[in-house]
Amino acid sequence: MSNVHELGFLKEKIQELKDQGVYRELPVLETPSEAEVILNGKKVINLSSNNYLGFSNHPRLKKASIEAVEKYGAGAGAVRTIIGNMKIHEDLEALLAKFKREEAAFIYQSGFNCNAGTIQAVTEAGDLIVSDELNHASIIDGTRLSKADRAIYKHSNMDSLEEVLRENRDKYKNIMIITDGVFSMDGDIAKLPEIVELAEKYEAMTYVDDAHGSGVLGESGRGTVDHFNLHGRVDFSIGTLSKAIGVVGGYVAGSQTMYDWLNHRARPVLFSTTMTPASAGAIIEAIKMLMESTEYTDKLWENSRYFKEKLGGLGFNTGNSQTPITPVIIGDEAKTMEFSKKLMNNGVFVSGIVFPTVPKGTGRVRCMVTAAHTKTQLDEAVRVFELVGKEMGIL
Ligand SMILES: *Cc1c(COP(=O)(O)O)cnc(C)c1O
Repeated sequence: MSNVHELGFLKEKIQELKDQGVYRELPVLETPSEAEVILNGKKVINLSSNNYLGFSNHPRLKKASIEAVEKYGAGAGAVRTIIGNMKIHEDLEALLAKFKREEAAFIYQSGFNCNAGTIQAVTEAGDLIVSDELNHASIIDGTRLSKADRAIYKHSNMDSLEEVLRENRDKYKNIMIITDGVFSMDGDIAKLPEIVELAEKYEAMTYVDDAHGSGVLGESGRGTVDHFNLHGRVDFSIGTLSKAIGVVGGYVAGSQTMYDWLNHRARPVLFSTTMTPASAGAIIEAIKMLMESTEYTDKLWENSRYFKEKLGGLGFNTGNSQTPITPVIIGDEAKTMEFSKKLMNNGVFVSGIVFPTVPKGTGRVRCMVTAAHTKTQLDEAVRVFELVGKEMGIL
C-alpha cells in the first residue's frame, strides 16, 4: 500500500519546528475570557486577551445573545445572498453605520474575512495597493487575492509613502493606501491625517484596518477615523467585532456605493454563511452600550495608563505605545520566552512575542490591560513583573 497517507512531508516539517524549539502546545482556557482565568488548570491574571472592554462575558451581551437565539435560532441557514440575510443582520449594519458616523456598514463573519473580501472586491488589474510594511497578515492575504499590483512603504514613514505615490501615480488607474489604524505589536497609531492628505494630493483611496482601534480610540470607541475627525475622508474603515466588542465578526464602514458593490462582489459573503444570530444579537448590545456611555472606554484608558506608568516607573522598556497595548521589550528571544514562563509560574499570563512576528532582538511580552481589570489585579501583576524582572537581571 502507498504511504502517501502518512503525510511524511508534514512530519518532517513538524520535526523541524521541534528541532528549532518553536513547536508549541496551545494553553487551554477553562473559564470565560476574564481578567482572571483558569489556564492549564492554574488560576492566573490574564494580560493577553483582546477583550479590551470586558464585553466577551458581559451579562448584557450574553442575555442579548440568548434572546437572539430564541428568536432566530442557532444558525443563519444560508449565505446572505440566498436566504441568510436576517433582520438582525440588517439591524446590526444600520446600528454600526450610525455608531461609526458613516453612510453604511457591511458585515463579515470575521475581521480576517473582511480584509480577504473587501480588498479583492474593490481593486483589479491596473490598480496599485500601497501598504505599510507592518500591516496585519489578513491585509497581506487580502492583497494577495487581488489582481492589483502592490507596493510597500516603510512603517509610518510619510516620505516613503509619498515616494511610492509620486513614482506610481501615472502608471495606475486606482491607487489604494492601506494601513492598520493601530499597530498591534507596538501600539502606535497610524499617521492618518498625513496619510489622508497625501491620498487626496495623489487621488488615492484610503483603507484603514482599525481592529485594535475599534472600541478603543475615538469617542466611545468609534475608532481612529473618529479620533482624528476624518469622517468622509477615509473610504474604507474596517473594524473588528472580535476584539474590544467581545464577540466575533468584522465590518467595513463607508459609503452606500461601497456597500452596494460589496453586496454583489464580496466573496466571503457570497460563498460563506452569515454570522450567527447569537453573535449579531450580542454585538448589537455591545454597540448600544458604547453609544449610551463612555464609561467602558474611559475605564480601559484609566487602567492602561495606570499599568503603563507603574511598569515604566520600575524601569521596564514599554516602547512607544500610544494605546492600551503595552509591550514590555526584553530583546533577546530566549530571554523573552523565559520571562513569560516565569510570569506564568507566578500567576500572570502574558504571551511572549518574538521573531518572526517582531524584528530580531525586539522580543517582548505584550500586555493587554482591559477595562475589567481591578486595581488589585493590576498591582499584583506589577508586583510579579518586578519580582521576575529583578530575578532575571532585567531591572
Ligand atoms: C485581529 C486583527 C484582524 C482579524 O480580526 P478577526 O476579527 O479576529 O478576524 C484583522 N486586522 C488586524 C489589524 C487585526 O489586528
